[in-house]
Amino acid sequence: MKLRIGSGYDIHRLTGNRDLIIGGVKIPAHLGEEGHSDGDALIHAIIDALLGAISSDDIGTHFPPSDPKYKGMDSQILLKKTMSMVYQAEYSINNIDCTVILEKPKLLDYKQKIESNLASLLEITLDQISVKAKTKEGCDASGKGLAIECYACVLLTG
Ligand code: ZN
Repeated sequence: MKLRIGSGYDIHRLTGNRDLIIGGVKIPAHLGEEGHSDGDALIHAIIDALLGAISSDDIGTHFPPSDPKYKGMDSQILLKKTMSMVYQAEYSINNIDCTVILEKPKLLDYKQKIESNLASLLEITLDQISVKAKTKEGCDASGKGLAIECYACVLLTG
């Protein structure tokens, strides 16, 4: 059995007049993610972790923000495209562990919905995905509510 590990990170500024989308789930909030696509930082971190695990560049290379076709793009579509690359490389997901850093709103009420949406997008079961929510206790930009940060770690088997 072959094992491949990958890690991903993403940060998006938060701004008015944008939706807050985390793992493909729209969360009621006053501020949403700035970005060329829908700004789903969690999915972007997962995509980078998957691409890293198969040693295939990064999200910006595969889906360049300079390309107008990705403007306002639903990141769930990009995740599905990334999964096809993983399958093409003859790997499948063993498990994914993620951390979302967001000052507010608190994500506890949405965690299950986010996990089950990601599980269905990634074609894995709920025990193969974990999404943890943290705050930065008021420290730095994310702690002051100016940004959302996400980390993802993935283990592939082939
Ligand atoms: Zn991003």
